[in-house]
Amino acid sequence: MDAPTVTADQVRAWLGEVPDPEIPVISVVDLGIVRDVTVAGDGACVVTITPTYSGCPAMDVIAEDIERALRARGVDRLRIATRLSPAWTTDWMSDAGKAALKGYGIAPPVQQVIDISALAHGVKRHAIRPPDVACPHCGSMHTRLTSQFGSTPCKALYQCLDCREPFDYFKCH
Ligand SMILES: [Zn+2]
Repeated sequence: MDAPTVTADQVRAWLGEVPDPEIPVISVVDLGIVRDVTVAGDGACVVTITPTYSGCPAMDVIAEDIERALRARGVDRLRIATRLSPAWTTDWMSDAGKAALKGYGIAPPVQQVIDISALAHGVKRHAIRPPDVACPHCGSMHTRLTSQFGSTPCKALYQCLDCREPFDYFKCH
C-alpha cells in the first residue's frame, strides 16, 4: 500500500492555521509569505516562503512553525524553500489578513501614493511623506507618525490625535 499522500490544497489549508509569531491573529498564508505549495510525485511536500523583509528575525521561527504544524499532520517528507525574489510586498497580504490586523489594533498597510509629477519638471524628489493612516481604534484619520520603528522594524509607531491611543502601523514595502 502506498502511504497516503497530501494535496497542495490540503497543505495550504493547514498552513492557514499557522499564525504569524509576531501577530498571532494573522496566518502565514494571510500574511502572504507562503508563496507556493507543491507536492511532488513521490509525495514530498515543498513549501516556498518569502520573508516579509530581509533579515526579519521571525522568519526562522515561521519556518519552524510551518514544519512543526505539517509534521503534526503527518507530512513527513517536507522541504521549506526560501524565495527572496520577487521581494515580499504588503500587497500580498490578504483582505482577511488586513482586517485581522486592524482588529488586533495594528493599522494595516495603505497604498502609498508618491507624487512623481515634480520629477518631470526637473524638481528633486521630495522626501516621502509618511502615509495617512486611519486609527484602528476609532477610525480617525487625525493621526501622526511618532516613530519610524514600532514594536518591530516591520512597523511604525503612530498616535491617534483624537482618541490619543498609540498604535502600530504595518509598513508598506
Ligand atoms: Zn483613535
